[in-house]
Amino acid sequence: MQPLAAPDRACPLCAGDGGTLLARSHAWRVVLAGDADYPAFTRVIWNTHVAEMSDLTAAQRDELMRVVLAVEVVQRELLSPDKINLASFGNVVPHLHWHVIPRWRDDRHFPEPVWGSAARDREAAVQARRAAVAGKLDAYLRAIRQRLA
Ligand SMILES: [Zn+2]
Repeated sequence: MQPLAAPDRACPLCAGDGGTLLARSHAWRVVLAGDADYPAFTRVIWNTHVAEMSDLTAAQRDELMRVVLAVEVVQRELLSPDKINLASFGNVVPHLHWHVIPRWRDDRHFPEPVWGSAARDREAAVQARRAAVAGKLDAYLRAIRQRLA
């Protein structure tokens, strides 16, 4: 099933880590996205350049989802979000990766996806939520590194 997966020189996820590296194996890596509105926005990236989940073997899919769910569990334990958003698009960067995004009712876009329309009527709450998450970020990063070491 796995096609030849040579690095694609035009692909930002082949050219670099794609964020601040938190954990890495031969097959995948976990990075902090560095999104100003969502300080704990995390990505799980398959290391080889494949586009779809069905490009992976069943064992590889299981491994990737194990990591995605480990990040989700750490976010729930450390950040207590109202919801976790899991998303895999690859429309812009067709290199397999999952977004793991803790969400709160008072964040900038809720209940829209983080790529949706911003809520314009709650700037104070957005600022407070962003600061609260940023205050827990060091503990979150430590927990991700420990869980996936
Ligand atoms: Zn790539």
